[in-house]
Amino acid sequence: MLELSHLTKRYGALEALHDLSFTVKPGEIFGFVGANGAGKTTTMRVVLGVLEADSGSVIWDGSPITFAARRRIGYIPEDRGLYPKMTVIAQLEYFAQLHGLKRKAAREASTALLERLGLADRAKSQLQSLSHGNQQRVQLAAALVFSPELLVLDEPFAGLDPVAVDSMTEILRSEADAGKPVVLSSHQLDIVERICDRVGIINHGKMVATGTVDELTERGPLRFWVDAPGAGAGWYGSLSGTTLVEQDGSRWLLQFDDGADDQAVLRAALATGPVHEFRRDRPALTQLFRDVMTVKTIDE
Ligand code: ATP
Repeated sequence: MLELSHLTKRYGALEALHDLSFTVKPGEIFGFVGANGAGKTTTMRVVLGVLEADSGSVIWDGSPITFAARRRIGYIPEDRGLYPKMTVIAQLEYFAQLHGLKRKAAREASTALLERLGLADRAKSQLQSLSHGNQQRVQLAAALVFSPELLVLDEPFAGLDPVAVDSMTEILRSEADAGKPVVLSSHQLDIVERICDRVGIINHGKMVATGTVDELTERGPLRFWVDAPGAGAGWYGSLSGTTLVEQDGSRWLLQFDDGADDQAVLRAALATGPVHEFRRDRPALTQLFRDVMTVKTIDE
């Protein structure tokens, strides 16, 4: 398990991380989201040891992370860092050896990974001759080639088309299923919502919300969509704690205060005629993201 505990990091007068804590369990994909400049890359660099935090700690399997443990992290850095003129296979072998594999094992691991990623036919091509999406796959391959124990991926989906996103997702899921914690950052909240087991939202260096997507979206107001074509204006008026948020034709979005009885609302709707829809309205992660950026801190 990876635990970040009370990290603080300053760049001169700017406090880029403020008392930032979160954990990522084995087998879990943790999505780290936040506006530009929120502190995601800084956090990842601290985990990798590229940057030193001013205070706080990074704990790996119960002890402060060591140099040796950091060598077992598969990392996709924000600024990428592959070699454009080197062939795909040569750089994978290079990264594998950098992380301790012998030459023959490095060759075998690189070849197997290129097969798995559907890039075997590009093994001898220079990296710069590949499309952006394929270069991203090579970047992922460089992070995986030495069988890391933990993955830290800064914007792995940036610039990928939906098919490439799906194949990247599949690989990350299988890495997580093999028991590795996976931390990734992304601005693509629809992807984060789809693939991450838990999400952390960071704002100005502070963690403002963490939890599963369901837990986070549960925290909004309790709202239901009711499609009742026979209902007239104010049909819900006698129900206590129920207010109208929005009406769209025969569809009504109602908000329930604490203690309001959703089943009483359903009965009242049915009393007006057929009910075609009675559904909890959950905000998308994008909406929640906007809310927490502007409103308040939500504790785990
Ligand atoms: P983005 O989504 O744009 O990649 P981010 O969440 O990854 O942003 P960071 O790159 O961690 O954010 O930056 C956090 C803050 O620290 C920003 O205000 C940034 O300008 C500042 N910062 C980052 N690196 C440095 C540095 N080397 N020197 C000074 N300030 C820095």
